[in-house]
Amino acid sequence: MTKLTKSYMVGEGTGQLLYETIGTCFDRVVNRHPDNLALVVRHQDIRWTYKKLQQEVDRLACGLIALGIEPGDRVGVWGPNSYEWVITQFATAKIGAILVNVNPAYRLFELEFVLNKVECKAIIAAEKFKSSEYLNMLNALAPELATCEPGYLRAGKLPNLTTVIRMGEERSPGMFNFEDVCNLGGDEEYARLAALRDVLLPDDAINIQFTSGTTGNPKGATLTHCNILNNGYESGKGMALTPDDRLCIPVPLYHCFGMVLGVLAAVTRGATMVFPSPVFDPLTTLQAVQAEKCTALHGVPTMFVTELDHPEFASFDVSTLRTGIIAGAPCPEKLMQQIIDDLHMQNVLIGYGQTEVSPINHMTLPEDSLENRTQTVGRPIPYVEIKIVDANNRVVPIGEQGEICTRGYSVMKGYWGDPEQTAETIVNGWLHSGDLGTMNEDGYVRITGRIKDMIIRGGENIYPREIEEFLYTHPKIAEVQVFGVEDPKMGEEVCAWIQLVDGETSTEEEIRDFCRGQITHFKIPRYVRFVDEYPMTVTGKIRKIDMRAMMAEELRGAA
Ligand code: AMP
Repeated sequence: MTKLTKSYMVGEGTGQLLYETIGTCFDRVVNRHPDNLALVVRHQDIRWTYKKLQQEVDRLACGLIALGIEPGDRVGVWGPNSYEWVITQFATAKIGAILVNVNPAYRLFELEFVLNKVECKAIIAAEKFKSSEYLNMLNALAPELATCEPGYLRAGKLPNLTTVIRMGEERSPGMFNFEDVCNLGGDEEYARLAALRDVLLPDDAINIQFTSGTTGNPKGATLTHCNILNNGYESGKGMALTPDDRLCIPVPLYHCFGMVLGVLAAVTRGATMVFPSPVFDPLTTLQAVQAEKCTALHGVPTMFVTELDHPEFASFDVSTLRTGIIAGAPCPEKLMQQIIDDLHMQNVLIGYGQTEVSPINHMTLPEDSLENRTQTVGRPIPYVEIKIVDANNRVVPIGEQGEICTRGYSVMKGYWGDPEQTAETIVNGWLHSGDLGTMNEDGYVRITGRIKDMIIRGGENIYPREIEEFLYTHPKIAEVQVFGVEDPKMGEEVCAWIQLVDGETSTEEEIRDFCRGQITHFKIPRYVRFVDEYPMTVTGKIRKIDMRAMMAEELRGAA
């Protein structure tokens, strides 16, 4: 390949993009592999072939039609991973309803905000999981449920929501039962479902994902069939998935990682989806990999850490694994090596991107050098353009840091009902990520930080990632997060929160001594704290914003 001269590259592809709706693609795959195992949900005892999955999807789709759900209506789904979630994903796509992924960790305030923001007409909710009482929360927001007919809710706080469908076997006042809805469709609804195939367009919005809110208010990234179908297909291609593969999906369905890189990657390739548990759990994930002989496994870096560190890890046979995707956060080199050596995932890929680009725009490939697979997020995926720009939107020279921007089929339509935020984020068709990176002359991109993640200490710009990578080389350190805390003198000071390897002890001084002479003095953490866990979002993304606030409070108390 010719060498690049500036930080712009378009990913090379072979073949075509899939220009079709999710429903059309799904039916085509079912026709080709009707008897292949499509869906295994271990905690619900589900083992369905593609044919059976299609029957269940169509039953729900027809039930929703019978309830009066029209193309373009917003239908929320709220709960941890389940077969109901998966069939809701395809059933809504088949009838052209826009699926609204509601974060299973949300509480009342956030639920009210998202349902009203996108004017959800219906919501399909789980009963409860651990401390999340989904139905109780819906009843608290809409006490009118106690007395209304199912489908005729008129709630003061949720003015657009008419229909609540509850999962599980029981029945609740004012709500439909999921299975009952699946039985509602008759000949008329099946005929309407068939007719919709020719009505829906690949460029229609089909999904709203609220970005995880590690920064600012939740914003509803609005994605089309074409956006997410192709992103799933391309990532499945990157993993070389075939109908013989079994992909273990312990990541949440409510996030693109689960529903696109998991579900759509598997389905577009005719492979089997394996869900080990409602929410991530390292033990059930290892059990699922062994029992189902999984060939691929997804996770954010911290999930792989807890699997590899599990006391029973050595007792599992995970030798069937060969690939999977690590995404969502930077993967330290040491961890990548363990994933390759101990989990046998020789062909594991790093995926990088954001919800707004459906969600990945960079990927490493198995044939990339170890250096590129550990220190970069790979190159632009097929058909996607990437540029790295300075503050004036000018493409920077090779090797120079700037903001990573994406243009192409995967860029969202916009943030639902938020033209200002959309205009700030998509400029001339280019989606601005807020991430900083550099591109080398072969197109490999290295993430160097986030615009907001940057620490400025006494006028010096510091990229936490760099310090984290260095600290990971300390044999006692299992995990580390570096961030800035306010300082009256320097503006900001560097702080490191460290998780030590089991059984180890250390001191602030020992860590600073380790840095001395190895990294520039201003990068040496002024504050070091040893912690057992980090504040996290449900997707397993660490919330530095919370750590910063907790640290500020501690320092205020000490002053
Ligand atoms: P989300 O929209 O929740 O998928 O979060 C996207 C953000 O997660 C990106 O903008 C990055 O800051 C971060 N991210 C995702 N994947 C990676 C990766 N492989 N390496 C580093 N950061 C990542």
